[in-house]
Amino acid sequence: MKNCVEIILNWYRENKRDLPWRKDIDPYHVWISEIMLQQTRIDAVIDYYEKFMNRLPSIKDLSEISEDELLKLWEGLGYYSRARNLKKAAVLIMEKYHGVFPNTYDEILSLPGIGEYTAGAIASICFQLKEVAVDGNVMRVYSRVQDLDIDVSDLKVKKKVGEEIKKILPEESGEFNQGIMELGEVICLPNGEPKCELCPLKSRCMAFLNKRQTLIPRKIKKMEKLEEEYTLFLMKYNNKYALRKRDGGLLKNMWEFPNKEGFYTYDEVKEIIPNIKTIQLGITNTHIFTHKKWFMNSYYLEVSKMDLNYSWFTIEEIENNLALPSAFTPFLEYIKKCQN
Ligand code: SF4
Repeated sequence: MKNCVEIILNWYRENKRDLPWRKDIDPYHVWISEIMLQQTRIDAVIDYYEKFMNRLPSIKDLSEISEDELLKLWEGLGYYSRARNLKKAAVLIMEKYHGVFPNTYDEILSLPGIGEYTAGAIASICFQLKEVAVDGNVMRVYSRVQDLDIDVSDLKVKKKVGEEIKKILPEESGEFNQGIMELGEVICLPNGEPKCELCPLKSRCMAFLNKRQTLIPRKIKKMEKLEEEYTLFLMKYNNKYALRKRDGGLLKNMWEFPNKEGFYTYDEVKEIIPNIKTIQLGITNTHIFTHKKWFMNSYYLEVSKMDLNYSWFTIEEIENNLALPSAFTPFLEYIKKCQN
């Protein structure tokens, strides 16, 4: 692997993609982009990143934004705890570091929402510290170049790979970390489809030379997703619709349409929801989270009384002011159609 370092650096310098967060090495920019990129594709992140930076150009701005506005800005990116942790970390940087992003690995790692990968990325890219940033791309390139039949999802294996890479890190640690990740993202693709003919490492890659590049890394059986069923009650009173904040579990504190676990008949819904004037079956939607799958059906209900256990909003208010998780947005589209 050691003799690949220079090749990766040169390849990265010549081929790196022009991305908005690569215009400088300001830790605020790198931090926000790294957090957005967790679980989200680069193409999808670019617009969010630019909108975020226009509204919140500094750590101070981020520390002062209201949670509701922040979640609205984050709407569609999912995994909302990432946004909440960004604000918590910004407040801490303002209070503890006088608004200046800390410049040691341990201090960066101590910030809310920042794990070893992100701390390593920021420390190496922004402060040229000799720290590794090992993600799935790095694990894939590393295991293929050496034709290693390792379980890349095992945290102990990942730690060991990090230690090995640290031994060969060049002075330009940030460029190297970004280079090996980028190689994994655009050339050494997952699911048995690496573009070896275009790869700068092909003459040294053991998996390629042994014709085993589609077998490495080994496929690990994915964890079964837990399946849950819900019925949503899309309640309308005059021009307003009922919403409530989730009190726990997934999407904690996010807005949702009132709902109950399980599927229910018309008669059962009439017993669950009081004061129904009209009732019709609504749409269904399936939403897949990392470890869960929600099957949702819905009823569209007009009620004769406003139940004050809920908050009531017009469609415009929901669209403009609230962050509705993407699991529920098809139901918002549905009630818009019903209103027309
Ligand atoms: S030669 Fe193929 S398998 Fe090896 S690192 Fe390059 S793209 Fe990956």
